[in-house]
Amino acid sequence: MQVAPEILSALFDISPSGIAIADEQGRYLQVNEAYCRLFGYSQNELIGQTFGLILLDSDKELEPEILALALNQDQSAPSEWQVKHRDGRVLFVHSAFKTFHAPDGSARILTILSDVTTLVATLRNMQDHELLLRKANENLEEIVSNRTMMLEHANKELARLATQDPLTGLYNRRAFETEAAKAIYTADRHQRPCSVLFLDIDHFKSINDQFGHAIGDEVLQKTAEKIITLLRCSDLVARWGGEEFVLLLPDTPLEQALVVGEKILDAIRSLQLFNTQIQITISGGLVERQLNTPLEHTLQQADMLLYQAKQSGRNRLASAPALPQHVDSLLVAYPNACVSQ
Ligand code: GH3
Ligand code: MG
Ligand code: MG
Repeated sequence: MQVAPEILSALFDISPSGIAIADEQGRYLQVNEAYCRLFGYSQNELIGQTFGLILLDSDKELEPEILALALNQDQSAPSEWQVKHRDGRVLFVHSAFKTFHAPDGSARILTILSDVTTLVATLRNMQDHELLLRKANENLEEIVSNRTMMLEHANKELARLATQDPLTGLYNRRAFETEAAKAIYTADRHQRPCSVLFLDIDHFKSINDQFGHAIGDEVLQKTAEKIITLLRCSDLVARWGGEEFVLLLPDTPLEQALVVGEKILDAIRSLQLFNTQIQITISGGLVERQLNTPLEHTLQQADMLLYQAKQSGRNRLASAPALPQHVDSLLVAYPNACVSQ
């Protein structure tokens, strides 16, 4: 169906898209209102000019190529171009061409284009925002992961502090009791002997008084380090109080525990501290635990034996086999404890 010329003419006049008709040299023959509005020129200003007028400065030299393209190839599929407004602004246009060739070799190039500058700007804005959001998200993930690592580290540190004596790194009293409870449960289950050794540095107060508290601290650390080197990995050792240490030796009857205890006393005697300025001795109370008795009883018995070692002159071990009696009778029970030097 043919479209009436007056309809085509009205279409040209009222189209919101810019329409231009150019000759084979790219010179404007006709432009509609929308085209003029788009580029900021009047019809008079455009007619007779070539479309080079609306090309970006950087595209100016491509004018012949674009013309050849429009003349020789079908450009009816819409494409995006960047062009230039009269005031120098860059415009994004969505455009299509159609070229009509006449038998005499002349041609008419029909161009229809719409301004999509705002659309492109909005799209770019959205892409920029998306990029920013993605970056913010990445930063957030990094912060969360750092916080999680810090939290994990803090939790580990808390767990360490909850079980370790901060000065020597040995178990603290609470952790010792927890671990010892497991060890004596196993000992009772398999009817295995175990021994408990209470150690207390002799005259430690005088070391503090003579050399100061900081040196006293170092002596405690060195003592703890030395004790550890003489133990099996299944043995438990804790700093019980100021200059007191307690050991639980699983699978160790009294006679074997005595060997361990004497080795420890010997090693502490031989410690060369602060260029031999400081020499220390340690006393110990050693007892073999009787099966199926609470750990507390065995600890009290070992403590009592330690008292006897101190009473007998220090720098020695007092030991005894397991006793079934309650601690109240210990004073009576241990008058003949074996005290070595
Ligand atoms: P004894 O041979 O009878 O055990 O005598 P002692 O001097 O070792 O025992 P006493 O109980 O009289 O003194 C213990 C000292 O240990 C007193 C205290 O100031 C000191 N002490 C306790 N804890 C620490 C500590 O963490 N660091 C230092 N440097 N000294 C400590
Ligand atoms: Mg003490
Ligand atoms: Mg002491």
